[in-house]
Amino acid sequence: MAEQRLVYSSKINKIRSFALILIFAGFILMYGGLLTRNIEWLMAIFFILGLLSILFSVVVYAWIGTLSTKAVQIICPSCEKPTKMLGRVDACMHCKQPLTLDKDLEGKEFDEKYNSRRYKKEAEDQN
Ligand SMILES: [Zn+2]
Repeated sequence: MAEQRLVYSSKINKIRSFALILIFAGFILMYGGLLTRNIEWLMAIFFILGLLSILFSVVVYAWIGTLSTKAVQIICPSCEKPTKMLGRVDACMHCKQPLTLDKDLEGKEFDEKYNSRRYKKEAEDQN
């Protein structure tokens, strides 16, 4: 496990950075609106897009909030910090250590597909 390259980042962190990018995009679009204030329709488009982008990021942040309450809180075995898990496999928020709640998957190569419904079904068919 330790020598495996840990490039996977926790799902909650991923969604959080996505929301952050949306906010930045929103501000850049609004700034674009300021720069083009001489052209009324262009300014309007920039402002509307910017506003939508920021509103969407608020929605995403609210969604993270709900996800966090559903996530399982565990202590990471690697860095011993508390982290939250979504689904059957996820990564530690601090050290990116892949984690699983499923004993069957322990020691297996980390793969996002273990979260999918299809994989679950295939695994059940095998048993
Ligand atoms: Zn950790």
